[in-house]
Amino acid sequence: MSCPPIVIVGAGVLGLCTAFELHRRGRAVVVVDPGEVNASLIAAGMIAPAMESAIDDVAPDYARLFRAGRDLWTAFAVAAGIVLAHRPAEWRGGDVDGMEARLRALGFDARREGDCVTTDEDYQVDPAQALSALRQALGDAVVVGRVTGIARTDHGWRVSVGDQMLDAEAVVLATGVGEVISGLPEAARGLIDAIQPIRGQIGVAARELVDHVVRGPGAYVTPMASGAVIGATMEPGRLDTVPDAETSERLTQAVWRVLDRSPEPLNIEWRAGVRGATADGLPLAGAVPGGQRLFMALAPRRNGWLLGPLVGAVVADEIEGRAASPHAHALDPGRF
Ligand SMILES: Cc1cc2nc3c(=O)[nH]c(=O)nc-3n(C[C@H](O)[C@H](O)[C@H](O)COP(=O)(O)OP(=O)(O)OC[C@H]3O[C@@H](n4cnc5c(N)ncnc54)[C@H](O)[C@@H]3O)c2cc1C
Repeated sequence: MSCPPIVIVGAGVLGLCTAFELHRRGRAVVVVDPGEVNASLIAAGMIAPAMESAIDDVAPDYARLFRAGRDLWTAFAVAAGIVLAHRPAEWRGGDVDGMEARLRALGFDARREGDCVTTDEDYQVDPAQALSALRQALGDAVVVGRVTGIARTDHGWRVSVGDQMLDAEAVVLATGVGEVISGLPEAARGLIDAIQPIRGQIGVAARELVDHVVRGPGAYVTPMASGAVIGATMEPGRLDTVPDAETSERLTQAVWRVLDRSPEPLNIEWRAGVRGATADGLPLAGAVPGGQRLFMALAPRRNGWLLGPLVGAVVADEIEGRAASPHAHALDPGRF
């Protein structure tokens, strides 16, 4: 009898990166997802260890982890067929001295040009292209459906997808801020209940505004496909995904200020998504305490794209019983 697959619940960046990592190691996987718009699709796709570390003024060990996440991207993108853009990221318009000092103190390169500081350490993907490449690489392992319950069996788990049952050797929860699935052990429910939702509103402008990432107080603007992405809010506690006009107006004004240009009419499509965050701002990646072949790839806060391949590798290592990567401890769900 062949071994049942590893079932990954959720096809956002964390679920698909974990599935792809396992798939390229030769493991049988099934990814279940309803196929709706998720946070991963509407994100700006910045792989930004330098800017994220300096903006959030993180401790050096966080910056090292973010850099390690970025460093996995080059080989991962080639293997998965993801286009990885290397373009400068610039900070303008406020506390430029502080940003430069923090970038340098954390070991990131930083070029000062007048009233802005630029780094070449950050990359970017187009989330739509990247998600589509990962789905294509996984082929018919990605199935449309919503997991409604899971139950322990002698050999693993039985996963309910509507009225269908899937046997799983192991289960990976990569459900974003989705609802708690029935049948989860108490330890998993507690960790999921503690995830804080943080709403983010973002706009896609149908016009090129910049040729590289420009960030500043209250907004960023990045190139994307044939236009630009304008983002993004951080609204803790909000789960709604309907864009609101006041926020759109505030973000648009902030972007013109950051670009130091007079406002011009722009055709912008606004969207909102919800990121999940833990109390320490790092994802939950690894085994749910108590064993039982149940794993998590959840709650990467603002850095789901940055940390996707790292989370995928940490979870895959644990599933396979391989020696843990140096960053596994920091992401271990058992730390809470
Ligand atoms: C506006 C905005 C901008 C962002 N920009 C960036 C950026 O530039 N760089 C960066 O690194 N990060 C960015 N992020 C953060 C990043 O998008 C998130 O951290 C990441 O998308 C989270 O991925 P995820 O896989 O955990 O969740 P999601 O993308 O939410 O995916 C979870 C999936 O699980 C599915 N699911 C839930 N419940 C079930 C169930 N019961 N059965 C089956 N499937 C289920 C959902 O339908 C969904 O498809 C941004 C986020 C936002 C909102």
